[in-house]
Amino acid sequence: MQWDTEALKELEKAPEFVRDMAKRKVEGEVSKKGKDLVSLKDVQEVFEEYMSYLEPDAKKPSTNIAIIRCERIAEACPGSACLLSLENRTVNFKGYGEDAQLVAIFTCGGCPGRRISRLLNTLTKTVKVDAVHLSSCMVRDEYQPPCPHREEIVTMIREKGLTVVEGTHH
Ligand code: SF4
Repeated sequence: MQWDTEALKELEKAPEFVRDMAKRKVEGEVSKKGKDLVSLKDVQEVFEEYMSYLEPDAKKPSTNIAIIRCERIAEACPGSACLLSLENRTVNFKGYGEDAQLVAIFTCGGCPGRRISRLLNTLTKTVKVDAVHLSSCMVRDEYQPPCPHREEIVTMIREKGLTVVEGTHH
């Protein structure tokens, strides 16, 4: 089987440990077409098929949720109540459908919410975010006074054009 230059260059983009396997797969597909020369298009077709196999849900519409937690409370809380509440669609996650998924969970970085803006900027560069939930420990006072910086944090997130929901599991 012959490979044209562009096809070989494209093959080299595959990680080294799968390159031989990818080469055999491409050649198999080209043979099935009755050809003996691999073109760039042949390689791209196989790679696209492979990626859709690896990421079957990548093109599905989804409601993407980020959760922000209190850095101080995180010393004592593993965050499982927030995650289970989302998983089970309870309390502040009640309205979400099957398509809701967690795309980020991070702590604020300490008073006054030091890294929230930076992490949201990074996140929204690559991922659509439909709602940012502030964890219940930031907004309720069962275990400690609520976050004293909450209003500024909410305003800052809204100024980024994002929807804020104040609370997670209670
Ligand atoms: S800014 Fe608020 S959420 Fe963050 S550590 Fe301080 S009290 Fe907790």
